[in-house]
Amino acid sequence: MEEKLQTGHIILPDHELYEEKRKVWNGLINRYPAAIFECKSEEDVVSAVIYAQKKNLEISVRGGGHHLAGTAVCDDGVMIDLSSMNAVAVDAKRGFVEVEGGATLADVDAETQHYGLATPTGTVSKTGIAGLALGGGFGYLRGKYGLTSDNIISVRMVTAAGDVIYADKDEHPELFWAVRGGGGNFGVVTSFIFQLHAVGPEVLAIDVMYDYKDTKQIIRNLEEYMEDAPDEVSVNLAIIQLPPAPILPEHLHNKRVVTISGMYSGNPEKGEEVVKPLRNLAEPLIDSTGVMPYTALQKKLDPMVPTGLPVDGTSLFFKELDDQVLNILIKGIDDSKLPMVMVQLWALHGEANRVSSHHTAFAVRDARFLLIIDGEVPKDGSSEDLGWIDAMYEKLLPYSYVKSSYLNGVKPEEQITKNTYAENYKKLSEIKERYDPDNLFCHNHNIEPSNFKKANN
Ligand SMILES: Cc1cc2nc3c(=O)[nH]c(=O)nc-3n(C[C@H](O)[C@H](O)[C@H](O)COP(=O)(O)OP(=O)(O)OC[C@H]3O[C@@H](n4cnc5c(N)ncnc54)[C@H](O)[C@@H]3O)c2cc1C
Repeated sequence: MEEKLQTGHIILPDHELYEEKRKVWNGLINRYPAAIFECKSEEDVVSAVIYAQKKNLEISVRGGGHHLAGTAVCDDGVMIDLSSMNAVAVDAKRGFVEVEGGATLADVDAETQHYGLATPTGTVSKTGIAGLALGGGFGYLRGKYGLTSDNIISVRMVTAAGDVIYADKDEHPELFWAVRGGGGNFGVVTSFIFQLHAVGPEVLAIDVMYDYKDTKQIIRNLEEYMEDAPDEVSVNLAIIQLPPAPILPEHLHNKRVVTISGMYSGNPEKGEEVVKPLRNLAEPLIDSTGVMPYTALQKKLDPMVPTGLPVDGTSLFFKELDDQVLNILIKGIDDSKLPMVMVQLWALHGEANRVSSHHTAFAVRDARFLLIIDGEVPKDGSSEDLGWIDAMYEKLLPYSYVKSSYLNGVKPEEQITKNTYAENYKKLSEIKERYDPDNLFCHNHNIEPSNFKKANN
């Protein structure tokens, strides 16, 4: 290949780093790009896009490489790897942070917390901010400050034509609308500006473990609590099987439990009183609720989700968790033969739900719970239960909220994408036509350019 990047590297299949660089978080993904452009500057990104265009190759974009479906890497196309572009600059006076497109949540939190500020992100610090923000972003600040995408003030992007553009509420306003929830469909985001808020440095972290046998009672009590929970409380429930880890008492080894993790984003002392009911949803097994640095809370779950774990997963939004839903979930968990399953219910309320469905591309604003189901799938296909995740999705779909899924936690599938964007899909498809008419950016929850089918038939 005659091309050279100004600052980064082009990694071809015979390069010693190729094997390493094509890997993503999910160990199940095993794809072979024609070339990996390890970009270190915006000019490098432009070169990568123009290269792909000239050679008529599809593009995949890697931010933090954490999408379950491994959409950051593609077979036979150009993988644009932004992981070296991870600079973060805080403008504390204006309450903004500028973040390059390959930064992780840890990169962002580390800088913003120097100033006692934060922008809403997710709950695992190694996740990439770009994929998270472009597809939504639910973290412990969602009740108070909304989704990560709601906090985007502007983006700089390289479009499919290789142009560098800036989009905000005044410039390219429709593109700005589309990137807030529309995923990586519209180009490569080289940097974002996010709104900052006063958070921490110490926060009240909610962390309670309950017995799995009390699951229904815990969920019912959580639902009731969330009916009038203040915006400061954001909370996730997870059903997991504990590992036989030495730090745990022996009677908990391999035990299935229900955990409640979350945060009170106001004054921790006041929070103690407010979160009390969450510590008494049933009889707790362990209660580690307490004050800790925000940055420590943001990293707390990292060891639970190591890179390279082969995982399948799905997601659905719910407005009601009626008995049928809970019965399907509990029976499904009990019957599963996968080596590990994790079922999460994230409670949604406050600012995350206050934004209107049409204000940004992210349409789902009325659901009360986000269900995420993940399972470890042996790479050698040795489990009898490889279809468990898809079967759970099918069983739960009729009860879900307008058949919508969290696209950041589900494999790309046309009908799921359309269900989720709902009325916003048509507008997204028209914006896609304008900025990526040949669907170069197709390794994502793809929004088809409005004239694409016509043009290709
Ligand atoms: C362990 C784990 C924990 C998670 N926790 C949470 C959580 O707490 N809250 C939550 O909301 N979600 C969570 N997620 C889901 C997460 O939001 C998505 O997986 C998200 O896509 C990750 O972003 P990434 O940049 O790491 O992904 P990547 O795999 O790098 O990218 C995913 C897609 O995003 C697009 N993209 C990425 N970077 C760019 C860019 N710079 N420009 C244009 N397009 C880009 C591309 O289409 C790409 O295919 C979690 C996922 C994992 C695996």
